[in-house]
Amino acid sequence: PHHGKSNAISFKELQDILLDTPKEETAREWSRYYTSGPHLAGKNYSQAQWTQERWVEFGIKAEIVAYDTYINYPLGHRLALYEKDASSRLDPSSGVDAWKVKFEASLEEDVLESDPTTGLENRVPTFHGYSASGNVTAPFVYVNYGTYQDYEDLIRANVSLKGKIAIAKYGGIFRGLKVKRAQDLGMVGAVLYTDPGDDGPVTEENGIATYPDGPARHPSSVQRGSTQFLSLAPGDPTTPGYPSKPGVPRQPVDGAIPSIPSIPISYLDAIPILAALNGHGPSAKDINVYWRKNLGLKYKGVEYNIGPSPDNLVLNLVNEQEYVTTPLWNVIGVVNGTISDEVVVIGNHRDAWIAGGAGDPNSGSAALNEVIRSFGKAIEKGWKPLRTIVFASWDGEEYGLVGSTEWVEEYLPWLSHANIAYVNVDVATTGPTFHASASPLLNKVLHEVVSLVPSPNQTIPGQTIGDLWDGRIHTMGSGSDFTAFQDFAGIPSIDMGFSPNPSMPENTADTPIYQYHSNYDSFHWMETFGDPGFHYHAAVAKLWGLFTARLVEAPVIPLNSTDYAIAIGKYISAVEDKLDAVMTGTAIKGDDIEIRARPNAVGATGNINDLKVSFKRLHKASSSFSSAAEAHDAFAAELAWEAEKHIPWWKFLWKLKLFYRIRRVNNKYKYLERQFLYKEGLDGRSWFKHVIFAPGLWTGYAGAVFPGLDEAIAVKDYSNAQRWIEIIETTIFKASKSLE
Ligand code: GLU
Ligand code: CA
Ligand code: ZN
Ligand code: ZN
Repeated sequence: PHHGKSNAISFKELQDILLDTPKEETAREWSRYYTSGPHLAGKNYSQAQWTQERWVEFGIKAEIVAYDTYINYPLGHRLALYEKDASSRLDPSSGVDAWKVKFEASLEEDVLESDPTTGLENRVPTFHGYSASGNVTAPFVYVNYGTYQDYEDLIRANVSLKGKIAIAKYGGIFRGLKVKRAQDLGMVGAVLYTDPGDDGPVTEENGIATYPDGPARHPSSVQRGSTQFLSLAPGDPTTPGYPSKPGVPRQPVDGAIPSIPSIPISYLDAIPILAALNGHGPSAKDINVYWRKNLGLKYKGVEYNIGPSPDNLVLNLVNEQEYVTTPLWNVIGVVNGTISDEVVVIGNHRDAWIAGGAGDPNSGSAALNEVIRSFGKAIEKGWKPLRTIVFASWDGEEYGLVGSTEWVEEYLPWLSHANIAYVNVDVATTGPTFHASASPLLNKVLHEVVSLVPSPNQTIPGQTIGDLWDGRIHTMGSGSDFTAFQDFAGIPSIDMGFSPNPSMPENTADTPIYQYHSNYDSFHWMETFGDPGFHYHAAVAKLWGLFTARLVEAPVIPLNSTDYAIAIGKYISAVEDKLDAVMTGTAIKGDDIEIRARPNAVGATGNINDLKVSFKRLHKASSSFSSAAEAHDAFAAELAWEAEKHIPWWKFLWKLKLFYRIRRVNNKYKYLERQFLYKEGLDGRSWFKHVIFAPGLWTGYAGAVFPGLDEAIAVKDYSNAQRWIEIIETTIFKASKSLE
């Protein structure tokens, strides 16, 4: 009801079109197309063109926007375990030992007859985006998940790391940061493997059939992925902060991407390497509770000793990459609204590591096409949006959010002026549990629309997505295309989708394992296990469309600043708890990882007690923001109610006074998130401009709140923390003033 009527159709009619148009069969057809062959970044021009053509067919103006970006393609790799053969010295008098290959990793995923895109003709080698070429032979060490804390535990246990190759499990944090910490500690290479212990109960060990016969992970499945240092800056590492247009100056990449080689492997390939550490060095279970979790290869004889490997065992790791500067292609569609300087952007990436990518990203790409097709239907019926909508199919997300970051960097002045929100879907669906992360400004719209879309799960007839959702909205971290919008441009963003989550009731004991970034994220997997019937694909399209429509059509922009104020209050307390933990020397637990002050901190500077007192200033700023936010939202609600009386929209355009009052309120909403930008950026990673949200420096995916302050506390630099208190205080007061 709180919506205007733009000429031909009412908001109710628009909503019905957005709920009725998305269809399982069409989503399946798009999925089928996108998953039919390799489409690595920069090698998917035909898919960019195809996407543009479909959007034009749906009635949307669309163009291809290209950037020249620096990325790598795989040339070769090798991983072999060598054993010194003491009995057969080449020439005993020379002292040169003979080494023989004890195990040669296959580095390949099995071809499955029932799954056509796993065939050799479609094969993208297993490799890491932005990894360094190299050929190293060295002893090796098991480093658990390779988190900052895991490496600290190894240092404390006196395990020698320098000159060794790290063997790390995937999971917990962004993979590039596992490699970064290894490199910082003088290690010479990294091997990342997927441990089935992280698959919960759905494993081969528990007698559950592996893909394609059942829902468990195929033992040869390998997680590809980028090892860029994401938490320092996403995007093309040669053009931080500005777009990679042809001919622009390029910066050196040192420090932005790894200098030590890394490769990803399957658990099948990991077994002999890990087993070779049996009996050498401390046992993982003796370190602490974080090392005891999910040791999924014990049944294969792996004892999870840490090593280093004994003198007679070394790994040879070869990684050969070709670096090129090559075009990437975003597809950008536009529907002009009546109000041209209020814009909603919605997007999903199109590039994938593999031929399939049915979950990542093509469940999202299929849903996006359904959303656009639905808006096309409304336009055909004479609908003209109140605000402008931009649709984006990004390229190069997998390497480091490259297509979206370059685009935001290029259009920053326009986006800063006009963009009211960015709505991202990456993986639309791989399981039954809904998840979302968002700027608190968008919380309210999300809570409203989840209850309008029927859940594909109808165990209780009539239940909606909202009925099955735990209602949690996570803070923005990184790992997908919202990052440049939220953290660089200060545009309120949201990311959402469905995935397996063993702790939620809608997941059963055999909910299929999602084989992320592997060849088994295929159309066949999606159709058989992931989303048979494509119901979740259609549901995401409906939700995404409705969410967008609310933002585009409500006369008063439906952002909510009170939710932001509540969140800020909580974040201040969270950082304060962390400070208390540092003061008392206790550790606090993050979602999955233990967080402690970094023991290698440069040494305490400044006074921790003074800092503690300064938190009062933040609470004061926060309560001033609260009052301003509540008053603003209340005034906006009144205006929204008044606007409703003057539906249709054109009628209250005539009531100029009301129109200008709405404009003033809308401008405040539009620029509120921008107030939280600090133009000097975060310490040591100045690309990140947001004072409240950033990816955790050592987590990547998971977000940190008040990252500047949080990081200063973590390294016990209390005078810098004091500086951040002042920056945050000023920023919150500025935001508060902007609403008055
Ligand atoms: N979503 C991709 C991943 O997690 C890319 C993230 C990035 O490199 O920023 O691997
Ligand atoms: Ca750039
Ligand atoms: Zn993705
Ligand atoms: Zn991905």
